[in-house]
Amino acid sequence: MSHQPLVPPFDRPFKLADYDPEDTSSGDKEQALADIVALRLRLNELQDVLYADRRFALLVVLQGIDAAGKDSTVKSVFQEVGLLGCDVVSFGVPTAEEAAHDFLWRYHRHAPERGKFMIFNRSYYESVLVERVKNLVPKETWKARYDQINRFERFLSDEGTVVMKFFLHISKDEQRQRLQERIDNPNKRWKFRAGDLDERKAWDGYQEAFEDMVAKCNTEHAPWHVVPANHKWRRDVLVARALIERLEGLKLRYPQPEAGIERMRVV
Ligand code: AMP
Ligand code: MG
Repeated sequence: MSHQPLVPPFDRPFKLADYDPEDTSSGDKEQALADIVALRLRLNELQDVLYADRRFALLVVLQGIDAAGKDSTVKSVFQEVGLLGCDVVSFGVPTAEEAAHDFLWRYHRHAPERGKFMIFNRSYYESVLVERVKNLVPKETWKARYDQINRFERFLSDEGTVVMKFFLHISKDEQRQRLQERIDNPNKRWKFRAGDLDERKAWDGYQEAFEDMVAKCNTEHAPWHVVPANHKWRRDVLVARALIERLEGLKLRYPQPEAGIERMRVV
């Protein structure tokens, strides 16, 4: 399988099968573990100036099958980012109140204010993933949601929110090993629910839903990044680099200080 770009081309049909979760074509582990240290610090510098600048917010969307590494990406990539400017919210089964609203309601409330990073650990994409795969809503309902999501992301982006989406792509065998580790390791057992095995049985349905999610909602303003995620060290470098590149493209700046401030003396 040839090396694929992180953001699939907008002008060609997207096939998940073309993307290798194992991909290590651009660098080795030792290099990646050295690189990530500097990338984390750079991400924090950029958060600092985004906070001062106040023109933009950053929304990071993480999706992936169970055990794809969503939690661990949050912990690793954002390790150096200060608490002042960054929040994370994880979305599980909707509460009764959330389920009584439109499907975007619970997410929009957590959209970041200008100056901040917000990480969505799972997101509104669950409405075209688990809700589709598990038949929680009729087909017409989830089918209409791709456009609704595109319009929502367009709106956020017009209002100054930079939307960056990462699909953590692991292989079926990698998931097997990670779920088994959750059973075998007493400190990870809490993460495992018997229901996870049923979810795994729906593997093919999820892959199809992931493919449609990327195919239908990959846009210039809110691109999907298909991250080869079998190797954590590779995954973290790819996510961090993509964020840094996008933030650098914003030409963020510290606000102009008051005139004459450089001549002031604190006594
Ligand atoms: P975890 O990420 O392990 O904490 O699990 C969260 C669970 O919430 C997963 O099993 C998801 O499938 C489930 N979930 C998230 N969003 C939805 C949704 N919109 N409808 C139903 N289940 C959901
Ligand atoms: Mg889980």
